Amino acid sequence: EYEAGGYMPINIGDVLRNQYKVSRKLGWGHFSTVWLCKNLYENGPRYVALKICKSAPMFTAVANDEIRLLQETRSVNPNHVGFKNIVQMVDTFKLISENGVHTAISLEIMGPSLLHLLMQSDFRGIQVPAVCKIIFQVLRGLTYLHEECHIIHTDIKPENILIKVDESYIRQIVGKMERFSELGVELPRSYVSSEVWTEKDSNLHQSDDEIMSRIGEQRSSSYPNDIYLSDLVNYRERHNQTSFIAPMWVNPNIEIKIADLGNACWVDHHFSQEIQTRQYRALEVIMGAGYSYPADIWSVGCMAFELATGEMLFSPKGSTDMSANIDHLCLIWETLGGIPRYITETGSESKKFFFNGHLKDVPIDNLRIWKIEDVLVEKYKWKRLDAIPFAGFLESLVEPDPALRATASQALTNEWLQSMDI
Ligand code: ATP
Ligand code: MG
Ligand code: MG
Repeated sequence: EYEAGGYMPINIGDVLRNQYKVSRKLGWGHFSTVWLCKNLYENGPRYVALKICKSAPMFTAVANDEIRLLQETRSVNPNHVGFKNIVQMVDTFKLISENGVHTAISLEIMGPSLLHLLMQSDFRGIQVPAVCKIIFQVLRGLTYLHEECHIIHTDIKPENILIKVDESYIRQIVGKMERFSELGVELPRSYVSSEVWTEKDSNLHQSDDEIMSRIGEQRSSSYPNDIYLSDLVNYRERHNQTSFIAPMWVNPNIEIKIADLGNACWVDHHFSQEIQTRQYRALEVIMGAGYSYPADIWSVGCMAFELATGEMLFSPKGSTDMSANIDHLCLIWETLGGIPRYITETGSESKKFFFNGHLKDVPIDNLRIWKIEDVLVEKYKWKRLDAIPFAGFLESLVEPDPALRATASQALTNEWLQSMDI
């Protein structure tokens, strides 16, 4: 998609707007590529993440909305406890390439996302104290977005929650890239095409080994990404575990922030009816019953389960939107032990899915009630005593009635979160 209207072509070492020197790719999405840059100016942060949006008018319009939302979160109340759990914008400007005019947003620099962490765990999940610490901070960020900024994020999911890194790690990554460039080594394409945190990408290790050997050195054990991730992840623990379900040990000092306000909206001004990534989509959104802050809380519930088990709470199959919706509703029904009749009657889509309080065309015998507490005990081998409070917490977040669902503030006082002593 490096074409007219698409991504801006970027090379490692490019200096953008005479200010930002591109060091590595951090990530990419449907709208943008994101780059680790060194700020050559004296003022402002030394390193930033530069989000460079596709240039077609619709992407520019989305970027402009994202900027307005970011400006709001930056200015409303920086003293709020949840302020520091939202990735903040530093600056915004335009860049011109052969593909058009691109909106660029510089953001405070963060490390890998929770999706990277889950990948690192081989999708076995991470240990409960770290889950607790992460979810606590997500909810605190949401109290700020919801209660102070009146913004609904609408895309809470692991890849949009980013982990904070020490500046020293960033400095090492940038330092390594600068050394390569001083030595005049030609960098393999993988440095531009792959993300810096994708440890699974063995190409990158190979690339490093190759470059190091060409310049007559061996890659030291203190490869920047390794240092960082081993700080977070206990590899020994991983290898000692024999059972495939054993979660990965993660340093519970982890700090996170909510990123990607690209799909966010104002509580009184929605941009779209169809929101959220399928697996994290709230019941009221599927039902076409309107949505507000509680839709984000539903996604937090889905994410908390996924972090703890490595598997999604709801992962509907289905080749069409309709069949995926039906499957999704069946999964919700089975996991929550049913859906209250009055909820089945709300929303523009209710008659498509339900009749007389039951899922249409789905024989009741085909549904197997399997509540979260039992799933944790039977499938993930949790102790019953641990499963009860966690399932209780999750059920307050995936409550079918958005009016009864815990708010971010209420969820913060839940005993499961409190019991972890963080
Ligand atoms: P989407 O398709 O999810 O809407 P997008 O084009 O809006 O994507 P983002 O989700 O904002 O882009 O960013 C893409 C990826 O870049 C993120 O998943 C993350 O890996 C990385 N990234 C974004 N912001 C930062 C940041 N501040 N620091 C470090 N990495 C970041
Ligand atoms: Mg994203
Ligand atoms: Mg986005």
